[in-house]
Amino acid sequence: MPAACCSMGDCQRSPPWFFLPSPLGCDRFPGGLGCRCPVRASGSFVTYSGALLGDFLRTPMISDLVHIAAAGGTVLTANKRLARQLNARFDEDRMASGQTVWPAPAILSLDAWLMRQLTRLHRGAELLTEMQSRRLWEEIIAADAMACGRDLLHVPQAARRAGEAHRLLADHLAEIAPADCDEDHLAFLRWRTAWQSRLRERRWLDRADLPAVVTAAFAAGELETPGTLLLAGFDDLTPAVRRLCDTLAGRGCRVEQWTAPRLADVAVVRHDAVDMAAEVRCCARWARAQLERAPHRRIGVVMPQQSDYQPLVERIFRAEFAPDSWLAPGDAPETFTLSLGTPLAAEGVVRAALRLLAAGEPLSIDDLGWLLRSPYLGGARGEGSARACADRSLRRRGRREWRLGALARALSAVPRMAAIIESVAVSRRDRQRRSPGEWGELFARLLQDCGWPGERGLGSREFQALEHFRGVLGQLATLDRVAGPMPRGDALALLGRLSAEAVFQPEGGEGQIQILGMLEAAGFTFDALWVLGLHDAAFPPPPRPHPFLPLPVQSRLRMPHADALREREFAATLAGRLFAAAPEVVVSWPGQLDGAPLRPSPLIRDIARDSLPLAPSCDPFLAVRTAACVFEEFVDERAVPINAASPFAGGTSILTDQALCPFRAFAHHRLHAERLDVPDLGLDGLARGSLVHGVLERFWQTVRSRDALLALPRTARLELLTAAAEETLQHHERRNRYDLPPRLRGLELRRLVAMADGWLELERERPPFRVVDIEQRHDFVAGNLRLRTRIDRIDELANGTLAVIDYKTGRPDPQQWLDARVTEPQLPLYCLDLPEDRVGAVLFAVVRRRQGECTFRGLANDPDSWPGMSAKSQAKLLDESGLGGLGEALAHWRRVLPALGDAFAAGWAAVDPVDPQQACTYCDLMPLCRIGESEGGTDGDEREGDGDG
Ligand code: SF4
Repeated sequence: MPAACCSMGDCQRSPPWFFLPSPLGCDRFPGGLGCRCPVRASGSFVTYSGALLGDFLRTPMISDLVHIAAAGGTVLTANKRLARQLNARFDEDRMASGQTVWPAPAILSLDAWLMRQLTRLHRGAELLTEMQSRRLWEEIIAADAMACGRDLLHVPQAARRAGEAHRLLADHLAEIAPADCDEDHLAFLRWRTAWQSRLRERRWLDRADLPAVVTAAFAAGELETPGTLLLAGFDDLTPAVRRLCDTLAGRGCRVEQWTAPRLADVAVVRHDAVDMAAEVRCCARWARAQLERAPHRRIGVVMPQQSDYQPLVERIFRAEFAPDSWLAPGDAPETFTLSLGTPLAAEGVVRAALRLLAAGEPLSIDDLGWLLRSPYLGGARGEGSARACADRSLRRRGRREWRLGALARALSAVPRMAAIIESVAVSRRDRQRRSPGEWGELFARLLQDCGWPGERGLGSREFQALEHFRGVLGQLATLDRVAGPMPRGDALALLGRLSAEAVFQPEGGEGQIQILGMLEAAGFTFDALWVLGLHDAAFPPPPRPHPFLPLPVQSRLRMPHADALREREFAATLAGRLFAAAPEVVVSWPGQLDGAPLRPSPLIRDIARDSLPLAPSCDPFLAVRTAACVFEEFVDERAVPINAASPFAGGTSILTDQALCPFRAFAHHRLHAERLDVPDLGLDGLARGSLVHGVLERFWQTVRSRDALLALPRTARLELLTAAAEETLQHHERRNRYDLPPRLRGLELRRLVAMADGWLELERERPPFRVVDIEQRHDFVAGNLRLRTRIDRIDELANGTLAVIDYKTGRPDPQQWLDARVTEPQLPLYCLDLPEDRVGAVLFAVVRRRQGECTFRGLANDPDSWPGMSAKSQAKLLDESGLGGLGEALAHWRRVLPALGDAFAAGWAAVDPVDPQQACTYCDLMPLCRIGESEGGTDGDEREGDGDG
């Protein structure tokens, strides 16, 4: 044994109570304890073989801890996780020795132990919960801001930071002098003074002050001094805890510190990954390879930026270790255990409760749709389909928001849902100020009235989230001590914040793969360990000094995150611990983050790269994308034909869809698959187009010819158009059961009159005509298909032929009539039923806001007589299609259109877009037809490979 390892009495570099246990023993301290001298900590003293670590319990140092606890010593851990692990090992040890009952060991986290001491003190002071303490800070900060005339944007955030700053000062036994402070620091001092005096007045105690209170009690002999105290898994002890240890040591307690063994025979290799996804994928495959090699190995995965990595780690590990769990997302796989939970508010059952309670007045269509589709509300099972239909029909009415009163009537088809909305409306009318506890009770009652959490059975995760949320609701009552009465909105915001801050971690068995944060891994050893995310921007992290404390004070006291030197030293301590926590260690870093290149952390730069054993990927998504497995192919392009006994009826959109893509026609018109409408501000493009149609239709019903148009004075024309626009808007409002807001209505009326008036100026330039039909319906039969079309207008021209006209407010392309599939079949379809020699023109009437953009576009026997058209432009239009004129176009339509109808009737449903640019860009069926997958499309995961950079 090197002499330097046992210089306890002589060592000047550590307080005398800093010890490490040694399995080899020590001549001055035969109990197996060595000092914490850096020479000792370098690993030259203790050497374990990897085999010993195969069984955590048999690791000599772990056994030491268990034996100390068994002998009545107290083991205090840095976190609850380590305490849980040691307690479990203790129990296993007792059982292995044949015992059936044994006293509970004193193994607990430092925080829990401090609270136990406070209970023994019987001081009568009440310990505030974290929530109560925060609420008190909020009240004091808000009152201070009001008194100073300052407008603090985010009081809850300031309260959180103030609580942190107080804890830092308490942990470091420090005070700050006003002379060292700027304006923000002074504000904090002011708040802290008020906060402390409120605590004194009410005899309340904050958790940050617990070490000081307990230390004073031990010093005064008010608490019984323990015989042995072992601190386990601490990377760094705060001055407050050091003082506590000094006090205990001074009163005869044997205080020792234990850290996990640092192995000498450790193989550390570096892995360079392309990015985070590739890094995590590689880590998961490596972990699988480890378990395939020896199923009982304990694997650790540790990361510095846990919140950045957690979603990625959860998704990729789940895909690699439990691909079938995607089919039952509620049940977590048990191969791996993630230490970091998720915000409680993100759990579905809790989100439903919060969204219901927060249902606004008015309620947005998105929130309403969410509630209608939620399975967590009463009646969701019985009214499920009817609620989905109600969601669709309410969206079609084009309103972005609904008043709750109007909504109860609009939901008459789903009475249970209507009753739920009514309950919410009643609750929202409560204008009283109440205590948080009262609001908690009222919220719980409202949720119960609304049938939350629904009738279906909850999974294990949902049930645990539900119970946790009930606990949070109950905790509102604990705030009554520190908070005054508040309005409903404030109580709801408080509940939302508490739920967002509450960390939810479903309970379950411990997996063999432990995925931990760096600090949580303190005290753990593994058979193999992977440390993720060690790039230069994260490890050591950049300093983040606290904004409420003067920087020189933070640096002097070496507070966490105070400056770069402190971060570097702490990162080196962590690296020293982690890189020796398993016989096999992999350290890795991603080559880029959001496109910005990264470099390896200086702490791993000199570690050599090596190839790693990787298991093949089990991720089903990757397997599909890379065609890594053999798939059975089944081409399914033909649906059941339409029943010959009952003709299929529909509009020309069937042929439009069939021409664009047969699957689109099948999905839209036979499966009735369509995306939900997303109501926009004001009127959408479709509604505005149909209003223009309505105005012109009404105008031409009165003014039936060009002669009548020319004879009409401008003022009379405008009056007629205004009346037509008014009538059209009324019709629109009646049909949608929704009155447009007056200002929007006035604007729309003026727009309609201006557009129609501009268009009529163009009509005045035409040769004589007579309007013979407006909005004429027409039936067309193709095989078993009966289509109904409606034509906007038919004019009789001076030579007795007919012009078939369709109004368009967009930018129509008559070329679509001429392409092989006729993707715009409405006018061609109508022409098929007219005698060929009667068709004089087939035209789009392009009605635009700017008069210069108004024009006719299409095919005519005499194109020069139509404003905006000419023989030259028509020849150019026909050129590409190879057709010679309107007559040949009619023949083309007679061939193609019936064939399209027959194909639809026969069930032809291939995913075959006429042109992906034209057909797919605005198609709502992409998630259903999966053209992206069939064309080999991928998303970001495509880059994931073995990930070697
Ligand atoms: S997205 Fe394209 S391929 Fe898919 S149904 Fe629509 S048009 Fe057809």
